[in-house]
Amino acid sequence: MGNRSKNLIIAGNWKMNKTPKEAEILINKLKLENKNPACKTVLCVPFIDIPVAISLTKNTSISIGAQNCYFENYGAYTGEISAEMLKVIGVEYVIIGHSERRIYFNETDEQINKKIKSALNSGLKVILCIGETLQERQNNIIGEKLIIQIKNALNQVAESQIANIIIAYEPIWAIGSGRTPNKAEINHICEIIRNTVLNISKISAEKISILYGGSIDSKNAKEILAQPNVDGGLVGGASLDIEEFLKIINCVIN
Ligand code: PEP
Repeated sequence: MGNRSKNLIIAGNWKMNKTPKEAEILINKLKLENKNPACKTVLCVPFIDIPVAISLTKNTSISIGAQNCYFENYGAYTGEISAEMLKVIGVEYVIIGHSERRIYFNETDEQINKKIKSALNSGLKVILCIGETLQERQNNIIGEKLIIQIKNALNQVAESQIANIIIAYEPIWAIGSGRTPNKAEINHICEIIRNTVLNISKISAEKISILYGGSIDSKNAKEILAQPNVDGGLVGGASLDIEEFLKIINCVIN
C-alpha cells in the first residue's frame, strides 16, 4: 500500500464543547492561519454551532460535520436530528459510531448501520469510528473486533456508497488518555481495516480513507500521519486548542 496517493484529512471532533461565539473565534483563527489548504479539514461541531460554522467556512478548504444523527428522516423522535436535516443546512460529514456514543448512549452495531445508511442516502459523508477496548487489546483480538464492527456497519450498504465512508480507527483506551499504539501498530491495523473493506466492496484501495484517532497531538501527529496506511487523523482534545490544531494540520507540509 506504500505507493497509494493520499488525500489527507484532518477532522476535529469538538465533542460537547464550544458555544457558537467560541466557535466563531476558533474558526476565524483557523481560516487566518491554516497554511495547508491541500489538507482537507473537517470540523465536527456541536449541533448548535453548525449554522455559524457553515457560514464562516463557505469557499474555504474547511468542511463542517456533525457528531451524530438519527436514522429516521423525520417524525416523533424527541430530541433527535436526522441526516436529512443536517444535509439541508449544508453539513457535509457526520461522525457515526463514536465510542462515546456506543458506551454512554448504548448505540449498537445495528443502529450504527441504520444511521450510516440514512446518512449516505441523504448525501452526507460518514466518518465511521471503530476501535478496541484495552481488554480486547490485551486478549489479542483487535483484528477480530474491528472486522466485526466493519462488517456490521457496512451490512447492506450499496457498494457505490462505500467510498463516501471514512473509517476512523480509534482504540478506545487511547481516546483522551495521552497514550497511543506505536506507529507500526497503527499502520498495521489500518492495513487490516483497508483489506477488510476491500474484501467486502471490491472498490479500489485509493477510494478508502482511513484515519487514526486517539490522543493525536502536535508532537506525535507527524509520524502517525506519515504511515502509509493512514490517510489522516480524527482529533479530539487537541482540536479545541487552535494553536495545537494548526500545528497538526501544518505538520503535514513541514
Ligand atoms: C476522539 O474522541 O475522537 C478523539 C480522537 O479524542 P482525543 O484526540 O482527545 O483522544
